[in-house]
Amino acid sequence: MFCPICKFEVDRFLPFGKPERKNARCPVCGSLERHRFIWIAVCSRTNLLDPDCRKILDFGPNKGFEAGMKTIPDKEYLTADLKPGRAQMQIDVTNIKFPDDTFDAVFCSHVLEHVPNDRRAISEIRRVLKPTGFSLIAVPMTTAMTFEDPNATTPEERKRLYGIADHVRRYGPDFEDRLKEAGFKYTLLKPTDIIPDVFLKLIGVPYKLPGVYLCLK
Ligand SMILES: [Zn+2]
Repeated sequence: MFCPICKFEVDRFLPFGKPERKNARCPVCGSLERHRFIWIAVCSRTNLLDPDCRKILDFGPNKGFEAGMKTIPDKEYLTADLKPGRAQMQIDVTNIKFPDDTFDAVFCSHVLEHVPNDRRAISEIRRVLKPTGFSLIAVPMTTAMTFEDPNATTPEERKRLYGIADHVRRYGPDFEDRLKEAGFKYTLLKPTDIIPDVFLKLIGVPYKLPGVYLCLK
């Protein structure tokens, strides 16, 4: 097995999650399946490696991406999270304390399912992107049609409805309507569209893994 983020060869990836997924977590950089997929997507389908793509904001950062960004020189890579201590900056994605047109790239993977006003978050991400910038946005897809119940406010109710206690909705493929409403031009990149099957196995990415949205301002 090979981790495309930290570039180490490993005998196997470690199990992770509940229920446990085999072959999921890289023992070297800590990346999970979707991190390795999104890393290849961003490196192959955007200008991330280009010197012009300099200022990058990452919401809800993960170890794999942080490790990957360290391998690319001359980037101003900022991490942000609503909860203190999880990232370099404490920032609410629905009220991003940066001027319009600030960033060349904004990463937002598996964040919006925790955010009550996700439409405002998407607008804010678009606002802080430069006109030439891009965003990679990923959400868990666990139902045919997005649903949320504003009356479900306790962890118990949310776990019952959405499967995880700190999620505030389930997303379906109609999630992309929210990208459209915000004014994004987007493409859904799926693992099988951009990575050959044989390589998916090598990097431990299930071919049915949900895609990531590449969003242009
Ligand atoms: Zn790794």
